[in-house]
Amino acid sequence: MKISSLGEFGLIEKIRKLVIRRSSAVMVGIGDDAAALKVSASSLLLASTDMLIEGVHFNLAYTDFYSLGWKSAAVNLSDIAAMGGVPRFCLTSLGIPPAFSVEQISDFYRGFNAMLRAHRTILVGGDTCSSRNGLMVSVTVLGGVEKAHVLTRAGAKPGDRIFVTGNLGDSAAGLEILKFGAKRRGSIRTTAVAKRLIDAHLRPAPRLEWGRTIALSRCARAMIDISDGLSSDLGHICEQSGVGAVIEAAKLPLSLSLRKAAAYLVNTPVYYALSGGEDYELLFTAPPEKIRKLRSLGVPLHEIGEITRNRAMMILDHNGKQTSLRATGYDHFAKEPRETHS
Ligand code: ADP
Ligand code: MG
Repeated sequence: MKISSLGEFGLIEKIRKLVIRRSSAVMVGIGDDAAALKVSASSLLLASTDMLIEGVHFNLAYTDFYSLGWKSAAVNLSDIAAMGGVPRFCLTSLGIPPAFSVEQISDFYRGFNAMLRAHRTILVGGDTCSSRNGLMVSVTVLGGVEKAHVLTRAGAKPGDRIFVTGNLGDSAAGLEILKFGAKRRGSIRTTAVAKRLIDAHLRPAPRLEWGRTIALSRCARAMIDISDGLSSDLGHICEQSGVGAVIEAAKLPLSLSLRKAAAYLVNTPVYYALSGGEDYELLFTAPPEKIRKLRSLGVPLHEIGEITRNRAMMILDHNGKQTSLRATGYDHFAKEPRETHS
């Protein structure tokens, strides 16, 4: 059987079933942003790992090494944010083509370290190998969270409101500008608007402080970071929580830059917001009675829809019409994979 017939998430589910071992020490295992492991009666160790591969996740023709280092750290820290945790330590493994220079790898670590320092996380080890097939980066982050505060993808309930912490779609639009320039009406690549979108793609910010604040407030029921795209990541919450959702297209937070760039891009801003991915904003659900408290936390909140008992995901368009919302975010083994996912 071809892997593409299962897709990335089907394959992970198959792996999970093959290796599953119940242990009272594993509170959250395969299937969430990070594993949550019991290390004492009240605290959990969080562990998450992510890999970035040249030609799949990044293209060195338009990614500088400093940004690559920054982003490699950021995407991992974001998974700790999604659990409501605090990152502490990190391990990094590199597969490096022998023709690369010391300066390039040093730049990678300058960017990597800047991100780690900003979030008080310490690099404590890793592995270094040569690679014959481009640069490979694998990062593991370890962190902690109290058992009472951990947030997972499960726990959303019908009637919960759905929130995101910031604009969606900028990163995917930035990637498109990097890859193709602009399709229509000449290039916007050198404009300030393009620069902001490209920046969102190359230098994402993990929402650690907000994730922590949301977790400590005990207002949210389920949380995930948006790495694959809103539709796919909301799909993970729905699946793990056994619920459905309705998203209102008109409520999706779209930056001024994305709206200004829209005329030059291949797809609509709503498409980038739903399917783009790599925004690294937090997506969470909370019951209506918690909204007032949530609003007092100082975390940017955009209410975009509601969790439903009916297990389907729906989208309410600008004309008030509800149609089914497919998980169209990134899947490494989808039948028609997109060209790159950096
Ligand atoms: P994220 O996008 O938040 O990094 P992923 O979609 O990569 O999450 O992974 C989903 C879950 O599947 C995580 O719990 C991850 O640890 C687990 N997972 C992914 N690949 C494998 C694998 N090859 N073996 C075991 N677990 C895996
Ligand atoms: Mg994640």
